[in-house]
Amino acid sequence: MKIGVLKEQNDARVAIIPVFVKQLSEKNEVLVQSDAGRSAFYYDEDYEEVGAKICDRSTVLSTSDLIISIYPVEKAELALLKKNCIYISSFQPFADAEISGVLASYQLTALSLDMIPRITIAQAMDVLSSMASISGYKAVLKAAEFLPRYFPMLTTAAGSIPPSKVLILGAGVAGLQAIATAKRLGAVVEAFDTRLAAKEEVQSLGAKFVEVEGAKDEKSAGGYAVEQTEEYKEKQRALIHDKISKADVVITTAQLRGKKAPLLITKAMVEAMRPGSVIVDLAASSGGNCEVTKNKAVIIHNNVTVIGNSDLASEMHMHASQLYSKNIQNFMNVFLKDGALNLDFENPIIKSSCIVYNGEVRST
Ligand code: NAD
Repeated sequence: MKIGVLKEQNDARVAIIPVFVKQLSEKNEVLVQSDAGRSAFYYDEDYEEVGAKICDRSTVLSTSDLIISIYPVEKAELALLKKNCIYISSFQPFADAEISGVLASYQLTALSLDMIPRITIAQAMDVLSSMASISGYKAVLKAAEFLPRYFPMLTTAAGSIPPSKVLILGAGVAGLQAIATAKRLGAVVEAFDTRLAAKEEVQSLGAKFVEVEGAKDEKSAGGYAVEQTEEYKEKQRALIHDKISKADVVITTAQLRGKKAPLLITKAMVEAMRPGSVIVDLAASSGGNCEVTKNKAVIIHNNVTVIGNSDLASEMHMHASQLYSKNIQNFMNVFLKDGALNLDFENPIIKSSCIVYNGEVRST
């Protein structure tokens, strides 16, 4: 089988790093687009050393039996792919209702990494978690960079500095990593989530859990949060308003799968913050948790810095590529044994992630 690795068009990460190519090239021919890993410091010579063939983009697209990229290629390039090839990427069918139909029209089989179920046996394949964890870490570092204050408490000859107060909204994978990182930097941390399951995790990291009673927690949502009632949202806003006016840094990570992110911070709340405070909105690409957020921009609103960025993982491209590659390796080990393909639809991982099979859209 020919396995192709594409260079990302607008991202410094690469989906597969040389250490995985070494395993793949034992039973397959591996084609890597020239300079695919260069921005993440994995060079063509490193790939060649472990058995890959360096090719131009059109060769990888048109000759691979199985092709891999982090972001899906543009629709025009889908036409270049080999008929009946397998394409692994994050197609985000929840956000793009058309994508499965488009992929099917090119006679492909599409395995969508973002559709791998969030179950224990699939944890080692979960790119969403790997990338969210990096984003949470990087969000705190970004905030520290823009904050005109120290994070830790300091006692100096010139006086004492109290620790910064950090509020984390949404304590999923990114939020928990943000809590851990802010704690390591010495801040006092509070966190809020609608899922009560998050309470224990927040507390185990040494942060205070801010609780709003009456949250709707949906077991059938596969661990994801669900939309809350208007009454709950009102209560939540009042509490966040109070907490935010005392915080130096707010990091927001709240997402609702396939929907617009919940609005948690209104313009009035930003205006109630102290001058110099910082908000990092990791939900910026799905509408933002903060009313004044501008996606992919840093703005100053009423002396508060608001950073809208959902792609912080790609700013740590070396480790992000390493984790991404390991997740894909673990995923491919499920259906690729000794170079032979076996897509078992009884397996929940394949059942959920295979959104298109040989040109047929599958219900997910
Ligand atoms: P996510 O990115 O979908 O959302 C981030 C967080 O925002 C979540 O904790 C969510 O509850 C929270 N949120 C949503 N609406 C909110 C609101 N109005 N106010 C406050 N917080 C709000 O979440 P995620 O990090 O991808 O995690 C989703 C779920 O998957 C979690 O239950 C997590 O524990 C679980 N998970 C399981 C595995 C596994 O077992 N393989 C791996 C990773 C995550």
